[in-house]
Amino acid sequence: MTEQNPICPECKGNNVALIFWGYPGDMDWYLQAIKDKEIVGGGCCIGNNDPKWECTDCYHKWGERDDD
Ligand SMILES: [Zn+2]
Repeated sequence: MTEQNPICPECKGNNVALIFWGYPGDMDWYLQAIKDKEIVGGGCCIGNNDPKWECTDCYHKWGERDDD
């Protein structure tokens, strides 16, 4: 992952995780990334208005999920 995570617009913190939607192909990477707070699991059900980022401090969610 090369993309720099943004700053939380709510609390201005930089503990922001990418929300991972869908089922991970690489479970080891997935669990490690969650442990490192690089991502949070969004669940396997993908909707039309899913946020992209979640602040791990205040749990604010924002942005728009990228379509792969
Ligand atoms: Zn925040």
